[in-house]
Amino acid sequence: MKEIFVSDIDGMAAGKDVVVKGWAQEIRVMKNIGFIIIRDSTGLVQATVKRDCPDFQLLEKISRESVVSVSGTIPESIKSNVGREIITSQITVLNLSETPLLIGITDNVETDMDTRFNSRFIDLRKPEIARIFRAKSAILWGMRNYLMSNKFMEVQTPKTVSAATEGGAELFHVKYFEKDIFLNQSPQLYKEMLVASGVERVFEVGPAFRAEEHNTPRHLNEFTSIDIEMAFADHNDAMLMLENAIANGIRNFMDTVKDAKSFSLVKSIPETPFPRITYSECLQILKKNDYPAINGDDLNNEALKIIGKRFEGFYFITEWPKSVRPFYTATLDEKPEYTKSYDLQFREIEITSGAQRVHNPVELKKRIEEKGLNSENFEFYLKTFRYGMPPHAGWGLGLERLVQVVLGLPNIREASLFPRDRTRVFP
Ligand code: ATP
Ligand code: MN
Repeated sequence: MKEIFVSDIDGMAAGKDVVVKGWAQEIRVMKNIGFIIIRDSTGLVQATVKRDCPDFQLLEKISRESVVSVSGTIPESIKSNVGREIITSQITVLNLSETPLLIGITDNVETDMDTRFNSRFIDLRKPEIARIFRAKSAILWGMRNYLMSNKFMEVQTPKTVSAATEGGAELFHVKYFEKDIFLNQSPQLYKEMLVASGVERVFEVGPAFRAEEHNTPRHLNEFTSIDIEMAFADHNDAMLMLENAIANGIRNFMDTVKDAKSFSLVKSIPETPFPRITYSECLQILKKNDYPAINGDDLNNEALKIIGKRFEGFYFITEWPKSVRPFYTATLDEKPEYTKSYDLQFREIEITSGAQRVHNPVELKKRIEEKGLNSENFEFYLKTFRYGMPPHAGWGLGLERLVQVVLGLPNIREASLFPRDRTRVFP
C-alpha cells in the first residue's frame, strides 16, 4: 500500500502500512529511539524509528532537508505533536542534502528578502511562503473558471513587439537580429485585434514587462497580467465581469486552500457589485479633506489613501479624465473630456484598469496622434478597425497585485515566485 502525500494518512486506520516520501525537516536520535519529521507539500508526519529497525543507524547520516522515503505502520495511538505518526520499518535516502542549509526553514530568525530570494527554492519550502502560491493558483483558477463559463476563449499573444502599446518610457528594448524591438507592456492591441478576428470574448494570462525605474513595494518589472476584451460591451459590462471574476477567484481560494481565512487579509467573499465612485466625486472629497487635486491629473497615493478610507475593500473609480488615460479609451458622449474608464482599487492600491475602447478608426487615429505617437507605427492595429470592428471593452489586472491585497502582503515581491525588480533578474 503506497501513499504519496502525507495528508493522505489522515483518517487511515491503525495497523495500515504506508510509504511516505518527503524532506527530512528534523532528525533526532537517542539511544533506543529516533525520529524524523518528514514534510511534504501537504504537511508533516513523524517517522518513529525504534532501535530494532534495520535502518536505525541511518539516522546518524541523514542531514536536514535530505529527501527520504519511509515505510511504516500507523500506530494505535499517535504520540507526536505533529499529529501524524508512523512506526518505521524501512528508510531509504533518495538524496542527501548538503550542510549547512543556505537558509533556515523552521528556525524563527528573520532572513532578509535578498538572501531569501537568492535561495528561493528553499524559501518556498516554508509553509507560510508556499501557501501564498497555493492562494495565487486558486484565485487564478476561480477567475479563469468564471471567464470560461462566460464564453471567453483563452489566448496567447506575442511578448516581443515592434510597436509600443501606449508609447512611454516604461519599455524594455530588446535586440532582435538587426532590429531594436520591445518586450510587450500589455496585450492591449492584440486582444483588440482578436475581437476584430471574430472572437467576441478573449482573455489572456501572461507576462507583462514594465521598465519601472524605481523599486516600490507595488511594482515588478515582470508581472502576470490577466487581460480580457469583450465585443458588443461597454465599460459597465466589463466591470461586471471583473467584480464577479474576482469574487469567484476569492471563493475558490477560500473553498480549496486549507485555512485560507487564517492567513488572508480578506476574510470573506466580497459582495458584488463593488461600490463605484466617479473621479469628479473623488475630487470633491479631496477638497473637503483640504487635499487639493487638480482636475485632469492622476490621483496620487496620498489622494487615494483619503478616498480608500471610505470603502471596506474593493471599489471602482470611474469616468477618469481623457488626459490620464491611453489613446484607445472611449470618451463619454455627454462629457467628452471624461472617459468610459475605471480603475478597480483596494484601499489606495490600484488592481485593474479598464474601459470601453474607441472602435471608430478615424477617431482612433486622431487619438493616437493627439498623444504625440506616430500613427504609421499603428497601421497593423488601425487596419483591423476598418473592416468590421464591434464596439468593445475590457480590462487588465495585475495578478500579483491582487494576491498582495487579498493576503495583505507588505511587498508585491512576496507574490512572485522569482521576482524581477530594478536590481534583481536572478535566479
Ligand atoms: P500603476 O499606476 O500602479 O503603476 P498602471 O496604471 O501603470 O499601474 P496599467 O497599465 O493600468 O498600470 O496596468 C494594469 C494593471 O497591471 C494595474 O492595475 C496593476 O494591477 C498591474 N500592474 C501595472 N504595472 C505593474 C507593475 N510594474 N508591477 C505589477 N503590477 C503592475
Ligand atoms: Mn492603470
